[in-house]
Amino acid sequence: MYRNRTCGELTIADVNKQVTLAGWVARVRKMGGMTFVDLRDRYGITQLSFNQEVNHDLFEQVNKLGREWVVQVIGTVAERSSKNMNIPTGEIEIIVSELTVLNASKTPPFTIETETDGGDDIRMKYRYLDLRRDAVRKNLELRHKMAFETRRYLDERGFLEVETPVLIASTPEGARDFIVPSRMNPGEFYALPQSPQLFKQLLMVSGFDRYFQIVKCFRDEDLRADRQPEFTQIDCEMSFVDQEDVLNMFEGLTKHLFKAIKGVEIPDFERMSYTDAMKLYGSDKPDTRFEMKFVELKDLTEDRDFVVFDSAEYVGAICATGCASYTRKQVDELTDFVKRPQIGAKGLIYVRYSEDSSLKSSVDKFFSEDDLRKWAERCNAKPGDLLLILPGETEKAQKQLCELRLEMGARLGLRDKNIYKCLWVTDFPLLEKDEELNRFFAKHHPFTSPKAEDIDMLDTNPAAVRASAYDMIINGVEIGGGSIRIHNSELQKKMFSVLGFSDERAEEQFGFLMDAFQYGAPPHGGIAFGLDRFVSIFAGLDSIRDCIAFPKNNSGRDVMIDAPAKVEKEQLDELGISSKPTN
Ligand code: ASP
Repeated sequence: MYRNRTCGELTIADVNKQVTLAGWVARVRKMGGMTFVDLRDRYGITQLSFNQEVNHDLFEQVNKLGREWVVQVIGTVAERSSKNMNIPTGEIEIIVSELTVLNASKTPPFTIETETDGGDDIRMKYRYLDLRRDAVRKNLELRHKMAFETRRYLDERGFLEVETPVLIASTPEGARDFIVPSRMNPGEFYALPQSPQLFKQLLMVSGFDRYFQIVKCFRDEDLRADRQPEFTQIDCEMSFVDQEDVLNMFEGLTKHLFKAIKGVEIPDFERMSYTDAMKLYGSDKPDTRFEMKFVELKDLTEDRDFVVFDSAEYVGAICATGCASYTRKQVDELTDFVKRPQIGAKGLIYVRYSEDSSLKSSVDKFFSEDDLRKWAERCNAKPGDLLLILPGETEKAQKQLCELRLEMGARLGLRDKNIYKCLWVTDFPLLEKDEELNRFFAKHHPFTSPKAEDIDMLDTNPAAVRASAYDMIINGVEIGGGSIRIHNSELQKKMFSVLGFSDERAEEQFGFLMDAFQYGAPPHGGIAFGLDRFVSIFAGLDSIRDCIAFPKNNSGRDVMIDAPAKVEKEQLDELGISSKPTN
């Protein structure tokens, strides 16, 4: 038997017991005639104690151990004289009587501690060592629990987990596909699924009724902190449901996860239409942990010969509570922030509402104190507050103001990771126009149903048609999204034509779906959650990388196994692919 107890479980109640432990040498502390070893396994750390006078040979042996050696010890649990109350095993130590080295280790390239000295690159190259660190391992434990509780909740409600294929066909909509050549069908390619969307809808036609799958999906997109080329979805679909049924079911799932895993009771979710989200927060995924809603001032700024406002389609303000005392330097920092190329504002206009109730602004030349007071009133500002104002073309200015709002929220400590605000954003537009290509794209995907009351506008004013689509937002992060689907082949055909598909192309790409819809497709709808994002919100992480065992870096590379990699020419020949790089 390699061990009968783990390194995380022994306490004062175990004193005098004989135990066998196995694990990694985290630390060796030599203190004259005593040597202490921190032995680590997945469950924790236990201190081992060696006394030169009691057992000289063992003492010699332990002093030769290096970091990360794998050892087995037999010994007796004893109460420690100097206790460490920060860890569960901190009151005891093991007086070792036998030590076996199970394996030696090279010195690891970074320290395997919560606060490591290893930079990102080196930790990714030696990810298997990084995963020995408490901090990273905890995230994977959390991930397991979330997946497990998700399965429990859905299983209890009659959902079946069904696997769908990974080698499928490329579709033109959505993000870029990863393509896989087929040796048996030279010149033809599979694609890896961006989501199991079509298959889960076909399962509804098959009568499966309630489906889910915790499933890898693939998108060949440029990477950001919350994106990976392969990521995991909790993918779900239900039949005979309307939007309300889906929202209730998955609001329930989210509440269950918070309760079961974090012990947090989440109240009923706020609901907000897409239009309101854009108007009040400049974003379809607003962070509602704090207010600071947008206030429109355009009508109050007219006829004062201030061309910046006069020529702007939109003038929006936010009120930063208690910030009237900001120094020149702080205001300049904010101005620099909005002028960064990623944000792109030309400048920032501010109004200080001083404690003595006087108002001063960066546009005093054009506006009287009375004017400013009207703005302040509309913003519900109080003495001591600072108004920050951005003018411009509506959509652009709202986006910029959104960034500024988030920055102010962060500066004012209003984005506390331990507070969770969950929200449904609903009534998204069905379509999005690409002005350059002069065509519509589906905002969600082409299978999303228009709202029944808007269907007539598909011909007359497609841009105004709203979708039965919804996103779940937690703390400003899009955790999930879905829709009620089209289940009528005629309407689906119509949708493809609005999206600029010829009949032939629609038939070629999605003929099987429209066929299926002619064999008794039930009304259905669903949702998919990004498990990686969900876990990182629960873990309070800024990046989804740390809750993935073996993530890719920012260039989509796995630096540990060195993928992607070149393949042999013969392999390419067999696939009928030219090995010459094309430019
Ligand atoms: N398949 C969709 C997505 O991946 C989600 C859904 O509509 O269920 O975004």
